[in-house]
Amino acid sequence: MESSRSILAKIFAEYYLSGTQAKKEGRPIAYISAFTPVEILKAMDVVCMYPESYAVVCSASNKSQEMIQASKMSSFSQDLCSYSLISFGADNVPKLPYGGLPEPDMLIATNNQCGTTVLWFKLLAQKKNIPLFIIDYPVATDDNDSIKEYVAKQYESLIDFVKKHTQNDLNDQKLSEQVDYSRKACGLWKRVHDLNKEIPVKIDVTKIINALFPMVAGKGTKLACDFYEALIDENKQTNESGSADTIRLFWHGYPMWFLPSRFPECFDSDFQIAINDYTLWWNLDYRNGTSDIGALITAYNNTYLNWTLDKKLSWADELAIDYSVDGIIFHANRSCRRSLADIVPLREKMSQKGIPSVIIESDMANPGFFSKEQIDLRIESFRDVLRSK
Ligand code: SF4
Repeated sequence: MESSRSILAKIFAEYYLSGTQAKKEGRPIAYISAFTPVEILKAMDVVCMYPESYAVVCSASNKSQEMIQASKMSSFSQDLCSYSLISFGADNVPKLPYGGLPEPDMLIATNNQCGTTVLWFKLLAQKKNIPLFIIDYPVATDDNDSIKEYVAKQYESLIDFVKKHTQNDLNDQKLSEQVDYSRKACGLWKRVHDLNKEIPVKIDVTKIINALFPMVAGKGTKLACDFYEALIDENKQTNESGSADTIRLFWHGYPMWFLPSRFPECFDSDFQIAINDYTLWWNLDYRNGTSDIGALITAYNNTYLNWTLDKKLSWADELAIDYSVDGIIFHANRSCRRSLADIVPLREKMSQKGIPSVIIESDMANPGFFSKEQIDLRIESFRDVLRSK
């Protein structure tokens, strides 16, 4: 079986090459927000690029601070979401990773993660003078027919919008293939995480976070499924360092992409992260089998950040039990107000269950808001709390 590393390299290369190639050949390119139903667009032969994912690449390549600084030239507050600032700064910075993203022909944004993406894409549309389509998702509640109808109408309009700007039709067979592969990849992604239900953990959480890219940019592809199958195969027999006595942690929220290991380097084999919920936010539920469009509506209306607080609380509870966690680290990511709002109630809930927690403040992509000293101090005293339990 081909190694996961080699498949991942192919996925990166294919994604970035597809953009460059499409530009050369005059095929349509869309910038889309992370939880856009990309399967519809791919089934209409639109090449889709994710500015958020590109911001991650720039942050991991130590380019983010320069790009965030450059966004100042366009008068953006440095306290906005750092993904958006990186995207706005891209035009003013030379030598970008992969040569930068190709210029888009259209933009598609959704509000099933936050309102920031909508405003961000509106500004991009004005700046680039290209068409924008926004999908509005109501807060996800249990199967609700009016939500389905409301979103279904918008998907019909999205198809019309793409048709109008590309003259491409929706290929139903291609759509089915996309949805099948996305569904399969999500099942495999869940199994990657399940490896860490065992004690000690089977796969380092850094390996998991570095394996997220195909869940985002490789949606609807066989290659993403091959990658996750290889990753499971390579890790199912291994034990990462650690023992049955290792203190098991739940890292809540975003990683820090600018750090080489994506999480602060203050853990040792006695104290390790068993689960990070953020990577599971991409484990969408495509199981509504009534139709491909129906499956997409359920999947994308039920994104983590669009859940009710009650659902988030019971999911955190479930993860804490399933991964046998001893303590929780909440990353108060100053970029993302939508995720910040949940920390206090989640912390209270965990405290009622006797699970101690600590909050550390930083940012997912802006190293300017990272203080090693502050984090080391908080983690060290948290370690003492956990050891004394
Ligand atoms: S980090 Fe938060 S605010 Fe920024 S785009 Fe993502 S969900 Fe929106």
